[in-house]
Amino acid sequence: MYTGPSCSICALPLSSEHARACRSCVQDPPHFSKVLSFGLYDGVLAEAIHHLKFHGRKRLSVPLGTMMLALDIPRADGIVPVPLTRASLIKRGFNQSLLIARVIARELGIPLRMDSLHKKRETLPQVGLSATERRTNLRGAFGVHDDIRGQQLLLVDDVMTTGATVRECAKTLVRSGAREVIVLTLARAGEP
Ligand SMILES: [Zn+2]
Repeated sequence: MYTGPSCSICALPLSSEHARACRSCVQDPPHFSKVLSFGLYDGVLAEAIHHLKFHGRKRLSVPLGTMMLALDIPRADGIVPVPLTRASLIKRGFNQSLLIARVIARELGIPLRMDSLHKKRETLPQVGLSATERRTNLRGAFGVHDDIRGQQLLLVDDVMTTGATVRECAKTLVRSGAREVIVLTLARAGEP
């Protein structure tokens, strides 16, 4: 578990003990209130996530989801996985964020809201795009199905890199009336 200095909002590892928030959160505050991250995208954790995602080792979602219970996860009205498009879901066969969210939901007794948020269109792979391009790429890509007005929601993503995906998801949820969105992620990668 990473316990070094990090941004108090997006959990980006910081080099200084003194900074409270990173530049990106100060200049362009996200719609989520904070990010709870288990570790850094590195070593064994990165390997386990890779095996889950790209080699279909779905059972790894159980230990990985269970590990996240070590975080101080608040009570919430629902737990929402970052969605894939229907086409991507069919291609991969599963949504790793949903598998992890399911473990947390079951262990903490929080309703799993797997259909609340959906991805409306395919977007370019985020790898290789600049921070600005990443945000443009995702703009308007998500939609909300449910009535989530006034709810406090936990948004689950397996890995968080620049945060463009969870930023866009949180924006969509808050604009649809969610009272608060807290992001849960297994691994936080630094800015590429
Ligand atoms: Zn930040």
